Amino acid sequence: MSRKKLSEKCGIVGIYHPSHSVASSTFFSLFSLQHRGQESAGIASSDEKNFFIYKNTGLINQVFDDKIIGDLRGNIAIGHTRYSTTGRNNLDNTQPFKASGQNGEIFLGHNGNIINSEDLIDLLSSWGISSFDTTSDSELLTLLYANAPGRSWSERSEFVMSKTKGAYSLVILTQNSLIAVRDPLGIRPLVLGKYREGYVIASETCALDHIGASFIREIDPGETLEIKNNKLNSSSIRRKSNKVALCSFEHIYLSRPDSILDGKLTYSVRMKMGETLAIEHPVAADLVIGIPDSAIASAEGYANKSKIPFVQGIVKNRYVGRTFISPDQKLRDLGVKIKFNTLNSIIKDKKVVIVDDSIVRGTTTPEVIRMIKDAGALEVHMRVASPPVISTCHFGVDTGSSYELIAANRRIFEIKRLIGADSLEYLSIDGLKESIDYQENYCIGCFTKEYPIPVQMEMDKLKLESIQKRENA
Ligand code: SF4
Repeated sequence: MSRKKLSEKCGIVGIYHPSHSVASSTFFSLFSLQHRGQESAGIASSDEKNFFIYKNTGLINQVFDDKIIGDLRGNIAIGHTRYSTTGRNNLDNTQPFKASGQNGEIFLGHNGNIINSEDLIDLLSSWGISSFDTTSDSELLTLLYANAPGRSWSERSEFVMSKTKGAYSLVILTQNSLIAVRDPLGIRPLVLGKYREGYVIASETCALDHIGASFIREIDPGETLEIKNNKLNSSSIRRKSNKVALCSFEHIYLSRPDSILDGKLTYSVRMKMGETLAIEHPVAADLVIGIPDSAIASAEGYANKSKIPFVQGIVKNRYVGRTFISPDQKLRDLGVKIKFNTLNSIIKDKKVVIVDDSIVRGTTTPEVIRMIKDAGALEVHMRVASPPVISTCHFGVDTGSSYELIAANRRIFEIKRLIGADSLEYLSIDGLKESIDYQENYCIGCFTKEYPIPVQMEMDKLKLESIQKRENA
């Protein structure tokens, strides 16, 4: 619902064409992944002789212009748009990262989060690498790939995967190849498409559609795919089990509704969540309203199943969260009003169901409910199209620490009172599983505390920074 509530991870793109410049297509592909990170962006390219790179803080179209794109020469490129899940958001932490080592010079873009950074720092130290330019776990991966043992990129990748725990979908640019890597659990999405006479790799299928590329397949969990001389060379790590664990929050909130994940259109999955929610938690009401944009599909599903009319009800000022101008105190006091507006004559004197995709910290939900009541609603019934978020994410989604999660230590009736709703109900775990067609193939850890791999620590996105300060002291 809002950036305060839950922050996306990152978006990555890689394009290989046998002969043509690809920077412009990389830009437009990356642009369609803007929802996955709004803090910084970068593109690195190669003409198979020289590298070119530009990155900066800001939105993608604030970072790049025609001149910059024109200077990013070459037929291979990777792009990254960032939300800081580890490390502070500053220019140093902006990707793609560069490293040089025994495997030559490489650039890397990472989506995900590593949970054993201390082990990787120890390993790099044993190779004589102990000073770091950034506070990002992605730099550790870049250094590992630049220096990993192995005669081929598949052998080097197998080595890195054997040492790394957590979520990582990667695009790597070498002088003459593009490499895609997905962690053995496949926690973050990554897809392969056909782009003109070449290929494209991207976090979501929507990034293929916007440049006229066609979907070929998902990159498999544990797969390393090298594209060189316009040929695909795929290899897979030997995995201990067949377990996969795509993040279920991708379907709930993170991915664009027009993206296809795990063979399912995200919009349709969200509709199903809304329908299941209506069956589990019906309520007598006059209108169903979805919080724009990510809860619209679930609200439509709820309305269809309950036979209560769906109306827009709330209008979002789409670009306000995407400016660098800070609101002054008077505007800040308006809270969500600066972002949302209500259609008062539609809402007045009605019993309203508000559908949201999730409630994480719960900071903005009370303000939204207050706004609907101020618009004249008789009753406001909150329905949430995912289960209560009771535990933090360790794999690249900034849910915050457990103590920040509104549902971590509260019962539903307590949350209802806190947010000021007349009733509050969530989709059940079984309802979520049914909606995403769960076959033990998704991570649902933030709803159940059962993660796909053991996690020990409370996630702190600045933890790596403190580790590295220690190392550099
Ligand atoms: S813990 Fe939650 S947000 Fe994190 S990967 Fe698992 S399902 Fe996604």
